[in-house]
Amino acid sequence: MNNVIIIGAGQSGLVTGYYLRQQSIKNFLILDANEQIGGSWQHYWDSLTLFSSAKYSSLDGLPFPENDHYYPTRDDVIEYLQQYAENFNLPVICNARVETVQRQGDWFEVYTADGQCFPTKAVVTATGEFNKPYIPDLMGQDDFRGKQLHSYAYCNPEPFVGERIVVVGSHNSAVQIGVELASVANVSLAVIKDINFAPTHKWGKDIFFFIHDTGFDMLPIGCNFNLCASDAVYDDGTYQAAVEAGNPDVRPMFERITANGVVWSDGVEEAIDTILYATGFDSSNKSYLSNLNALQDGIPQHKQGISTTEAGLFYIGLEGQIAPASATLRGVSRDACVIAEAVTQYLAEH
Ligand code: FAD
Repeated sequence: MNNVIIIGAGQSGLVTGYYLRQQSIKNFLILDANEQIGGSWQHYWDSLTLFSSAKYSSLDGLPFPENDHYYPTRDDVIEYLQQYAENFNLPVICNARVETVQRQGDWFEVYTADGQCFPTKAVVTATGEFNKPYIPDLMGQDDFRGKQLHSYAYCNPEPFVGERIVVVGSHNSAVQIGVELASVANVSLAVIKDINFAPTHKWGKDIFFFIHDTGFDMLPIGCNFNLCASDAVYDDGTYQAAVEAGNPDVRPMFERITANGVVWSDGVEEAIDTILYATGFDSSNKSYLSNLNALQDGIPQHKQGISTTEAGLFYIGLEGQIAPASATLRGVSRDACVIAEAVTQYLAEH
């Protein structure tokens, strides 16, 4: 019998493992559906660069290996997470997708897709908030004969050279991917509201100095403000300049989709090759908990990551779990420490 099963080996699961070790909890496992450690970063696009510098992006116990002021890439983060697991010898099992968790009296049984069963006294779910693509229902979508994809499936501009593309959305992903695609294709951003460019530097300082060093992003104010869900497009000036130059151009959201393209808000129909949805993620991605008394309308019932409806069940990495930074590299460590303490207390009492 395991003491704890952590589901997910992204940053949230790994740093929880680190803190369980600090609490002297030995008998635990981290199960992950992916082929290798690195969480959803492995599925984000190739050129993705963090919105905060290395100084503000380390997990507790192991600083980012480079100087403070560089902005790590997606690949740097994957490598860092793999080093983190190796450094602390965390017991990760990959290719282990959890299909369901069931209660058996005082403990749980965690079943993976290959039919294995892992009995455990406590479960921590660390399966992330940004890996179930959300695509809005739009009129005519099913009739479209071109390509439609979500930003989660986008890797790089190579397959899109010379195309006419509409990117739906106005946040970080939409603008970053739109500008990247505009170097090889004719791109429009279709937006419902104006793009909110936020400078990465103000008064000569990194903007995250004001958000992080003041401690604002770590205030225990839950979901009232969320760093990842915020509509701010962090920009050193490059993105705004590209948009102002019309490359990509920004247009009000189209009215509907046709077999060949879209009808813009002025009624003009235009042929389109690809519609790319940078429309965010659906946080109801924890259906493996549906046999427990854990979710309401797919959403975890919890207080600061401790299930309020199922004893022995804990969460980590939820948006606004404790503070605005909870679902970020910098913010998740403090939450993981809180959860490891709560798990330890639960195990001592059961
Ligand atoms: P994930 O990285 O999603 O890891 C969850 C893990 O759980 C995955 O490895 C997955 O395989 C596994 N899993 C899922 N379901 C199951 C299952 N049923 N069974 C077993 N395993 C399962 N944060 C920052 O701090 N800085 C940034 O610059 C930044 N940029 C971002 C850019 C984008 C485009 C997005 C979408 C998010 C960004 N974030 C950023 C937010 C956040 O840090 C990342 O989303 C990060 O990946 C979250 O880590 P996580 O460990 O909570 O979840």
